[in-house]
Amino acid sequence: MAENSNRAIDLGDGVYQVMVPFPNPLKHTLVYAMESRNGLVLVDAGWDDDAAWAGLQAGIESIGYSMADIEGVVLTHFHPDHTGLVGRVREASGAWIGMHESDYQWFDLMSEPRSPETLEKNLANLALAGAPSIDLGVFEGIGPGHAPVGPESRPDRILAADEIISLGGRDLRTVWTPGHTPGHVCFLLEEAKTMFTGDHVLEKTTPHVGSYVYPLEEDDALADFMESLRRVGSMDVIRGLGAHGLPIADVAARSAALIEHHEERLAHLYRDFGDDQLTVWQVAERMRWYRPWDELPAMGKQMALSEGAAHLRHLVGRGRVAQVAGTEPALFARVSD
Ligand SMILES: [Zn+2]
Ligand SMILES: [Zn+2]
Repeated sequence: MAENSNRAIDLGDGVYQVMVPFPNPLKHTLVYAMESRNGLVLVDAGWDDDAAWAGLQAGIESIGYSMADIEGVVLTHFHPDHTGLVGRVREASGAWIGMHESDYQWFDLMSEPRSPETLEKNLANLALAGAPSIDLGVFEGIGPGHAPVGPESRPDRILAADEIISLGGRDLRTVWTPGHTPGHVCFLLEEAKTMFTGDHVLEKTTPHVGSYVYPLEEDDALADFMESLRRVGSMDVIRGLGAHGLPIADVAARSAALIEHHEERLAHLYRDFGDDQLTVWQVAERMRWYRPWDELPAMGKQMALSEGAAHLRHLVGRGRVAQVAGTEPALFARVSD
């Protein structure tokens, strides 16, 4: 037995929850283990560090299994707090790793340490958003960083929308829910009407939307996200199990509340435009965040900027706001009725 005392929680229906430590304000990634024909299938794996690995291992052992009994891992999306440990799980067990095709491409990107070229590209990208040079200096200071996952974590089972994964006698349905990431999926354990919602629906947290591409992303991620919330909200689900925080008692109600939250933000953003012409940066500055804009740490600003860009992109998609022709960095203004 591992010395770590982390114990899994028995949720019934042959489903267990393991709280895997995550060095982030969210504190944990919740990994779910489902009993299957030849052992366990996991939903997500957790952040890649030794504390997380010890926590996952102890949780699995607390229900009478060992890491060698892991048959497969299904990933809700590519973020490293979900995918980080899959390489170690595969090494210990030979498990297959499944993920939706639209997130698969990110593994190459995440398996390389951040290079000076990548940093330069990011800074050029931020300049297109209208970031003032004084702020660009802050982003430069974020540092090189380690690769969040290695090539050994690469999925070997590419999942399509609605693909059924057999758990030996019961089915796990892949529900494609783009928005938080392009290839985010939820997994529905059909007989138990239980949905693993990853970062798509969380009980307390509002999931991040946006792709860090400026001035405007090609995809309307917010439109995708709201459409995915409608899809999940219309499904026959008794309980939702998210990857962070508490279980979701009413997935339909929580999905509707998240849509409402974004509709309000869109309305505020449109109103706050007034008659001004704004860069993406200025759009983000005008929106409301968990702290005043000037007090956000560099990473928080990055996330806020991409979330602001996603809202702006959506207003452009709705024809309410448009880019002012010939401006660089791009300026945006309300479209008069
Ligand atoms: Zn995520
Ligand atoms: Zn997450």
